Amino acid sequence: MNPSFKGGIHINEHKDTAGCAIERMPAPSVVKISLAQHSGAPLRATVKAGDHVNIGQPIAESDASIWCPVHASVSGTVKAVERIADAGRAAPVEAVVIENDFLDTLDPSLTPPPSVDELTGEQIVERVRAAGIVGMGGAVFPSYAKIKNSTGKAKTLLVNAAECEPYITADHRLMLERPEEFLGGIDLLMRAMGVDNTIIAIEDNKKDAAALLREHMGERKNVEVRLLKTKYPQGEKSQIIYALTRREPTHGVRLADIGFVIFNAGTCAAIYRACTRGEALTERIVTVSGDCIGTPKNVLARIGTPIKEVIEFCGGLRETPKKVINGGPMMGAAQWNMEGVITKATSALLFLSDREEHRNALPPTCIRCGRCVAHCPMHLMPNYLAKLAQAKKYAECEDYHIGDCMECGTCSYVCPGHMEIIQYIRVAKGALRARR
Ligand code: SF4
Ligand code: SF4
Repeated sequence: MNPSFKGGIHINEHKDTAGCAIERMPAPSVVKISLAQHSGAPLRATVKAGDHVNIGQPIAESDASIWCPVHASVSGTVKAVERIADAGRAAPVEAVVIENDFLDTLDPSLTPPPSVDELTGEQIVERVRAAGIVGMGGAVFPSYAKIKNSTGKAKTLLVNAAECEPYITADHRLMLERPEEFLGGIDLLMRAMGVDNTIIAIEDNKKDAAALLREHMGERKNVEVRLLKTKYPQGEKSQIIYALTRREPTHGVRLADIGFVIFNAGTCAAIYRACTRGEALTERIVTVSGDCIGTPKNVLARIGTPIKEVIEFCGGLRETPKKVINGGPMMGAAQWNMEGVITKATSALLFLSDREEHRNALPPTCIRCGRCVAHCPMHLMPNYLAKLAQAKKYAECEDYHIGDCMECGTCSYVCPGHMEIIQYIRVAKGALRARR
């Protein structure tokens, strides 16, 4: 049996789009590019209404020590800098609104190198930074900073291709359709960080991708594909490490300190395109699924594409969804309304009825069954954390290692008392962050 971790859950995979080849969406007539697309403070716009922009042109900046540029994803005219809804944030965020001129004029600022093989580690880091690449699995940490922080410490590159959240198949399709980009990005990361070997971790519901990657491995002797048992949340970094090495995640230890660095599959491919073709991160693969969407698909969409246009491209809605989720159903963010847009973090858009989104009709009650404790992959006591958070005893939550909670939602999922444990935990974590 393929390795896994302790705890977790087996859930209906709903990978209905696994056989749907990536379809490029026509560019929309207007894009709204969020200035809050990396983990950190939002950027400030460097363009204003009336300016002309090209595809790949940087349109915002920051004085922060770690930040990531964003770029125009169409060529055309800036119409406004205005606030838009953002599924991942409590308040609206600033965005640059660009009217597409449909000329697809590329910006000359990002150019391919004369020879990829001669790029030094520093040059790779600079290209990754300039291309605005962030962790595309949802963490959106600037990739150039991760490469720099791990250089000299990490010995093994772990590539997270587990894609354990239900519905999402974007990385699966990427590996099947663009193996050269995916493996080429791994080569560049290994060179930049000087790591000795790479493990590509894939859940065993994607055996076709694992087989295809092994076929394309060529001369690579130090890159290995490892299948992991399909179980949620197998794609979390601590769970992958445990499955592969039997090392337990411990409080406050960083991956680089134990010799690992982890990158998501989509991020590897974006790094390849930035270093070989000079492409900025202006588009991404998004799984569009759920029982309310007309035709579930994997689409390649420009960053800033309005959700309404994605719906139209996927055959419209069969019925009004009860919930729209930006990301997976377990860790994704509920979309406030249909006014949102595709960002660098949008791995999926899910349109769910209440047949698929199991809502609770009864008042939530803890019946002390202990299921949340038994299933928590981080070996926490979610029931205690929820109780302490409810009572606003946030400092005591730290005694129960609330910082180790990766917000996977397993506890809420298994709770027969329908306790929204994860919501309480998020509130407590937010309060602790604000205090700090
Ligand atoms: S407490 Fe956190 S890590 Fe544990 S199951 Fe709940 S959400 Fe996941
Ligand atoms: S699973 Fe729910 S009902 Fe059971 S102990 Fe945890 S919080 Fe209480």
